[in-house]
Amino acid sequence: MEIGKLIVLTGPSGVGKGTLLRALRRRHPELYVSISVTTRTPREGEVNGKHYYFIDRKQFDNLVAAGDLLEWAEFAGNCYGTLKSQVESHINKGDWVILEIELEGARQIKQTFPEALRIFILPPTFDELEKRIRARGQDTEEAIFRRLERAKEEIAAAGEFDLQIVNDDLEGTLEHIEGALFVPVGC
Ligand code: 5GP
Repeated sequence: MEIGKLIVLTGPSGVGKGTLLRALRRRHPELYVSISVTTRTPREGEVNGKHYYFIDRKQFDNLVAAGDLLEWAEFAGNCYGTLKSQVESHINKGDWVILEIELEGARQIKQTFPEALRIFILPPTFDELEKRIRARGQDTEEAIFRRLERAKEEIAAAGEFDLQIVNDDLEGTLEHIEGALFVPVGC
């Protein structure tokens, strides 16, 4: 059986990971993007089972206790995790699976899936990141503050990743990611 590949995409909140993933999926529909569980309240337009599985804290704790999460972390006051069954079934089918997760989760994956390709997306500048988070208009001032504080910690850890890409233009960033994923075999 062909075994698939695991790709981890990490970067501070607001850096544009969601937009990049949507564009990647359009260009490569064979890529499977894992749907995480979270205790965060859905934002306007977010759909349960599409963007996340929205669950409460008790359900989340049960998943952790049962060992059903491949990785999990607390982020800006909410819990997020990757369902082990979802990733394993796709990997075993030979699919390429992408996890869009924060730093602590990416560190856990390095331990459990050392062969995963881990990519860190950086903003062009910190000011630009703050502007993007504010432009979303979806978070309270307190949530914005927490996300920016966390962003500083995450950016400081970018060097732990296999690849760092500055997202200053969507097309260029996509091509850079594609270059890392679809490395030509043999010569
Ligand atoms: P947001 O609330 O903006 O959707 O996500 C906040 C952060 O949580 C983002 O950095 C996102 O990548 C991360 N995240 C989303 N799902 C998961 C997950 O399953 N595990 C971990 N560790 N982080 C996640």
